[in-house]
Amino acid sequence: MPKIIDLRSDTVTRPTPEMRRAMAEAEVGDDVYGEDPTVNRLEATAARMMSKQAALFVPSGTMGNQIAIHVHTRPGQEIICDERSHIILYEMGGPAANSACVTRTVSTADGILSWEEIRKRVRMPGDHYRGTGLISLENTHNVAGGRVYPLDVAEEICDRAHELGIKVHLDGARIFNAATFWGKPVEQLVAKFDSVMFCLSKGLGAPVGSMLAGSRAFIDEARLVRKGFGGGMRQAGVLAAAGLVALEKSPAGLAADHGNARFLAEALAEMPGVSIRPNDVLTNILFFDVSEALTCADLSARLREKGVLANGVAGRMRMVTHYDVNREDCERAAGVLRQVLEEARSAVGAGR
Ligand SMILES: *Cc1c(COP(=O)(O)O)cnc(C)c1O
Repeated sequence: MPKIIDLRSDTVTRPTPEMRRAMAEAEVGDDVYGEDPTVNRLEATAARMMSKQAALFVPSGTMGNQIAIHVHTRPGQEIICDERSHIILYEMGGPAANSACVTRTVSTADGILSWEEIRKRVRMPGDHYRGTGLISLENTHNVAGGRVYPLDVAEEICDRAHELGIKVHLDGARIFNAATFWGKPVEQLVAKFDSVMFCLSKGLGAPVGSMLAGSRAFIDEARLVRKGFGGGMRQAGVLAAAGLVALEKSPAGLAADHGNARFLAEALAEMPGVSIRPNDVLTNILFFDVSEALTCADLSARLREKGVLANGVAGRMRMVTHYDVNREDCERAAGVLRQVLEEARSAVGAGR
């Protein structure tokens, strides 16, 4: 049985042997009492890497984003974000359900907001509305295909928002991919944001967990909200130990994932009936459409029969590279897709 090539997401990465060893040997305590030395070390390390005063280990990226929204906003306030943001598409209606906020969305081609577009939606509190409570950006942008924020665009948004007294949160689930793309330390990409969430459990390969970073006061409050959301963990050092290895070792491997995604995109672009623009593939996520009359679910099922896993996301096919797939796997995945599309075409031809 050949290896299954799993391109559904970078969340499918399994912990490395080094992570498993660190987990087995982790020193632990009760983190709700603040007594888990490994969690404390992870939080200090993350804060240092982000150049923020403090950081908090949370069970998932969703919880990290939702805690940030809860701390930054008051009920009835508005959150300005891209219409394809993870915080509104894939977090169970969290801004409304958890924080009684409404979203004011911006429609973009590439997931990248500009201050000009945001400014049109900013509202100061008035007799009839609570006004803007938060601006939330996503870098890299998942549903826009792993697109990255130019540093000056993100900085301008933060600066202008701050002049109006509005906080800016960064959903940086894949911020290390963005930093890899720019070849800059991650702290430069997050410097002006009031809070940043990033995932240990995606391309960095840890089995569980995300980090939320910000000012000391923000994280003190976030810790209480985490408890209220049911995210207080006890001997979480076994998880944090893997997170520490992820932070130390994994960023260096992301460039290879980006190279593999670009390689796949170029291979797909050569296939009849596939539409994709390889130059738009900047990091480890690629989206494509096929002209054959196949739904994403059909195509996923046919790929799966041949050992390649890929899903439809927001109505388009998506592939995500990560350290559990190498160049050879990408070659094979491209070959399988080509074969599936040829079979679909000849079936249609035979039916005519
Ligand atoms: C994956 C992801 C998250 C968090 O996801 P969890 O599965 O809850 O860890 C948040 N934002 C973006 C952009 C993501 O891709």
